[in-house]
Amino acid sequence: MSTAANLAHRDPNCLFCKIIAGQIPSTKVYEDDEIFAFHDIHPWAPVHFLMVPKLHLPSLAQVDDTHATLLGRMMVLAPRLAMAQGCLPYPDGGFRVVTNTGKGGGQEVHHLHIHVMGGPRPWLRG
Ligand code: AMP
Ligand code: ZN
Repeated sequence: MSTAANLAHRDPNCLFCKIIAGQIPSTKVYEDDEIFAFHDIHPWAPVHFLMVPKLHLPSLAQVDDTHATLLGRMMVLAPRLAMAQGCLPYPDGGFRVVTNTGKGGGQEVHHLHIHVMGGPRPWLRG
């Protein structure tokens, strides 16, 4: 599937597809043609945002080799956005990156997302 076809793929019933499309409001942290990032509505930490591919993928369980560049871009972007959002520098500061996958993994929203959490402790959770 071409990149353009991938990016056109949305699930009309998906909460995060609706956020990406601007149909549901969010506090945007970052956007490019493949990736969208926004504040988590129930933050665990002083900094807590979600990074999502614009492509609707239900979870990490559905990724394959065609997604390697996209996922790599997200991981490379995570530390830059974390610092910009107020995470403290490594090694005394840092941040947590989490991707819950499936019911067993605690996933509630079935559009692949990376939680990025950080900032001064104590945190509300975690
Ligand atoms: P997960 O349990 O990994 O699927 O995480 C889903 C996350 O989405 C939770 O941390 C929720 O707080 C967050 N969330 C749910 N609805 C919204 C929303 N409308 N805007 C921002 N974050 C949301
Ligand atoms: Zn979606």
